[in-house]
Amino acid sequence: MSAAVSLDRVSCTFGTGPQAVNAVDGVDLEIGAGEFFTLLGPSGSGKTTVLRMIGGFTLPTSGRILIGGQDMTQQPPYARPVNTVFQDYALFPHMSVRDNVAYPLMVQKTVRKAPRAEREARADELLTLVQLPGVGDRRPAQLSGGQRQRVALARALISQPQLLLLDEPLGALDLKLREQMQSELKALQRRLGITFLFITHDQHEALSMSDRIGVFNQGRLEQVATPQQIYDAPATRFVAQFVGAANVLEGAVAQRLTGQACALLRPERITLGGPAQARASGTVSEVQFFGSFTRLRVDLGGTQLQADLPAGTAAPASGQQVHLHWDERALHALGSS
Ligand code: ATP
Repeated sequence: MSAAVSLDRVSCTFGTGPQAVNAVDGVDLEIGAGEFFTLLGPSGSGKTTVLRMIGGFTLPTSGRILIGGQDMTQQPPYARPVNTVFQDYALFPHMSVRDNVAYPLMVQKTVRKAPRAEREARADELLTLVQLPGVGDRRPAQLSGGQRQRVALARALISQPQLLLLDEPLGALDLKLREQMQSELKALQRRLGITFLFITHDQHEALSMSDRIGVFNQGRLEQVATPQQIYDAPATRFVAQFVGAANVLEGAVAQRLTGQACALLRPERITLGGPAQARASGTVSEVQFFGSFTRLRVDLGGTQLQADLPAGTAAPASGQQVHLHWDERALHALGSS
């Protein structure tokens, strides 16, 4: 797999002296051509700064950025084979949808500008690609949020970038539309074969869409791996707790229940059963119904464990004693970081 983007010890510090913020701190990363790669992390962890450095909107304090094998560290945004979809879409309100989509072809500096009719035809093609045929004459204000999102996507794709940067593009949409756009985006990326670098703080979005995920924490990458590896075998405690619900057992409890110094046990790996061979017994302190599963909080005498029961299972009531079972293989040893 050839690299679409390489980050070589890239850092970015804002400000100086005691006020300085190390937004990105020595990041090494390779994203493969055609990959759907997601940067996942909490607010303020440095994701947007990475994306802005790749787009050319922010210069790194140190390190190198290669795009398609070429050193682009100091190149301005328009000289990079990259386009960006921002969360707020950044559409021009006074232009028609068609002109918005065609805009990058209007201002292109690197190649001959195409004639107007050709640009408009191409914009209409892109609008069809994002499933918005026939809205070219409208203004952005005459579209729904989801439709505006698609227009922004069409505009970002019209100049055929090698790499598309997407900064929380679905953040403003309601849950149903968001889920629909997630599968559409993924399908579009597969069809076009363009490398996508997607940013989100939503773990479900990251797990369901990505080929690989980089989990960001305080300006550093904690782990880069496939969604399944991130979920089943998190490299650090931070990753275990940020992605999915987690019971992290440590100290004497971990020693007693798992034989490890620190271990992860996902709630859905726990089942209820009889007292014989139970790994732990305790009292239900909370029952939460989520529709597709029910989450119990079980008090083991100071330690709380979450256990998820599949839909259709009769849930015990709060205050009831329960016996917890799990397979040895459900445990994942964690480092202390
Ligand atoms: P979010 O999900 O909230 O967008 P993020 O993970 O994208 O967060 P960044 O926007 O990259 O995080 O910010 C990383 C850190 O850098 C934060 O502490 C932020 O306050 C700081 N920061 C970002 N841009 C600037 C700037 N232009 N000047 C000073 N500090 C900045």
